[in-house]
Amino acid sequence: MTLLSCESLERPAAREEPWVSPRAAYVHVPFCAHKCGYCDFASLAGVDHLAERYLDALEREMAMSGQPQEVETIFIGGGTPTRLSADDLKRLLASVRRWFPLAQGGEWTVEANPGTLDGEKADVLRDGGVNRVSLGAQSFQPALLQALERNHAPEEVEKALELLRPRFNFWSFDLIFGVPGSTPEMWESDLETALGLGPSHLSCYGLVYEKGTALWKQWQAGSVHAVDEEAERAMYAHTIDRLERTGLAMYEISNFARPGHECRHNLVYWANDAYFGVGLGAARYVRGVRSSNTRELPAYLRRIEAGQSATGPTETLDPESRARETTVLMLRRTAVGLDRSDFLRRTGFDLDALAGTTVSRYVQRGLLEDDGQRVRFTREGLFLADSVLCELL
Ligand code: SF4
Repeated sequence: MTLLSCESLERPAAREEPWVSPRAAYVHVPFCAHKCGYCDFASLAGVDHLAERYLDALEREMAMSGQPQEVETIFIGGGTPTRLSADDLKRLLASVRRWFPLAQGGEWTVEANPGTLDGEKADVLRDGGVNRVSLGAQSFQPALLQALERNHAPEEVEKALELLRPRFNFWSFDLIFGVPGSTPEMWESDLETALGLGPSHLSCYGLVYEKGTALWKQWQAGSVHAVDEEAERAMYAHTIDRLERTGLAMYEISNFARPGHECRHNLVYWANDAYFGVGLGAARYVRGVRSSNTRELPAYLRRIEAGQSATGPTETLDPESRARETTVLMLRRTAVGLDRSDFLRRTGFDLDALAGTTVSRYVQRGLLEDDGQRVRFTREGLFLADSVLCELL
């Protein structure tokens, strides 16, 4: 009979907590058919000829970690990942699978834009392991798509869905409200059209005029007028009420889902958990260090090809800053909110000692509710979320 040594009886080393060691990976693909007027992402039009070189660089960057890292969620965003050819997509998925193998039951999302999908690419995504697609619909009205400088027609959303529905159980739309020239009635119509297509997840973002974008310049020059605050508030209020009635519960300030259809990858960000990030401009948060890659494509390619890191700004948060950041991110989760015990476990800080005065003040003003265990936004607070979150930070 062979006796097992003490060493072999030892339990495997416990995995580190998800806020220390990443169990999520973000992969960025920057190619787009056209630069939309409001877009502040690391995205580029007219450089498709660099796709293969970019995929080489991505693979090299992933390989720099030295060994594959198993993750529970993968998110390939952009840009427009589905702008890649079917062959390039296949290659991308194979390298992501190699360096970020997905745990059993994991979630793998790819962003797609209407007009960039066909049956072959949809097959490549499904066969490659992707199990969730997020479609950038934004609006179903030609005038609003034009105001956003989107280069697809409303009918292309329906066509994309015909490809996605039979292949994926999980798919989502992105919509934007507060587009210049829109009215609450137009937004209601967009929402009805979206609901008619039967999504189990919807992201509804209020338009932001990001500094430096084409739309921001037009707004600054006075050639574009922002929707007034009252109308935008009415659009958001309608979104919350209408989606709730349909069974799409709000689980984050801008995100709504049927139970079990929440985006698990984005929940990682809102829990302030760690994540890997590769590709142009990609951000990552690993062992308490936040960093992001350069947003300049030539510099990204040059540095990775020379075997160097493409990392730009890096920040190591002190424990208090990290805890404050955690309050802000967790409060975004409108259903779960900020749970005192969970917060203490993750940050080592007592919520009341850290931010008790601010929380109480907003509870008195009716913007936050506090049941002694959890703090959450009230309905009224959702409309002023930005200023509450800013103060907590
Ligand atoms: S498709 Fe998306 S990433 Fe590309 S330019 Fe438009 S908004 Fe930006």
